[in-house]
Amino acid sequence: MRNFIFCLICLEMLFFAGCGSKEIKVPDFDEQNAMRLLIKLVSFGPRSAGTAANLRQAEFIAKTARSYGAVTTSHKFKRMTTEGLLQFVNIEVVIPGKRKNFVIVGSHFDTKKMPEGIEFEGANDGASSTAVLLELIKTIKASGIQPEYTLKFVFFDGEECFNEYGANDGLFGSKHYAGQLKEKKLISQCRAVIILDMVGDKDLNITLPIDSDKQLCKMLFEAAGKSGNRKYFDYLPTALLDDHIPFKEMGIPVIDIIDFEFGPGNSFWHSSEDNIKNISAKSLKIIGQSTLNLLFSLNFVKKT
Ligand SMILES: [Zn+2]
Repeated sequence: MRNFIFCLICLEMLFFAGCGSKEIKVPDFDEQNAMRLLIKLVSFGPRSAGTAANLRQAEFIAKTARSYGAVTTSHKFKRMTTEGLLQFVNIEVVIPGKRKNFVIVGSHFDTKKMPEGIEFEGANDGASSTAVLLELIKTIKASGIQPEYTLKFVFFDGEECFNEYGANDGLFGSKHYAGQLKEKKLISQCRAVIILDMVGDKDLNITLPIDSDKQLCKMLFEAAGKSGNRKYFDYLPTALLDDHIPFKEMGIPVIDIIDFEFGPGNSFWHSSEDNIKNISAKSLKIIGQSTLNLLFSLNFVKKT
């Protein structure tokens, strides 16, 4: 009897494994459109949280997602910051899957507030991952394929701190969204959180923070390999504070797809070198296609 039950469990696992390996053709990611979106996002100018440009950009993100046939929800909230009381907004875009359990794909869209006189486009830090998320939504909606898991694309506001990262500065949007998951008792339905950040560097080297979930990393490496892009993905030797952290603290498996080697010694990060000249459509393609492959391979063994 024990062997029989064991076999049943094996069969169930095979069934779930089989769902993912069923050869669904993963659609192509259009990097040229992603690049057009990135240029449009940069055209809003400096767009740190609480600014008029930030809100205009948020409206553009929601409008664009709707034009791709997706349903959007804006979550507005206010927080006291070192700049005073500011208005923030997260944009959530849901693509219903076969299961109500969901996977979050997130990117921050705000840009770092820089001192007067420094020209800062945030082409990589802010715009690149936001453009990739929008293009992912477009590609999945246009494919007509229903994903296995419900996909919640979330555009986070206020990732950047104003003074220094701490309990009351930085990660405003992701902390707010994670708090809502807890309030609505949705944590157990959230199977994974995939964050994209700084993914447009023309010299692409993805540096997954070492505390990213090992299974998700393995799945990402395999997903990237399917398009011949495995070599662009590696680990950072350390952990990193980014939008994945509030979810990791809740026990949800997280991965932060970030290139934290932007320019020599990461010197382009939070500098005027973070501009369109240092971005390439090819890098957007590598990230967009690898993430699409990953989303189409997601197939966690049923737990809840
Ligand atoms: Zn930043």
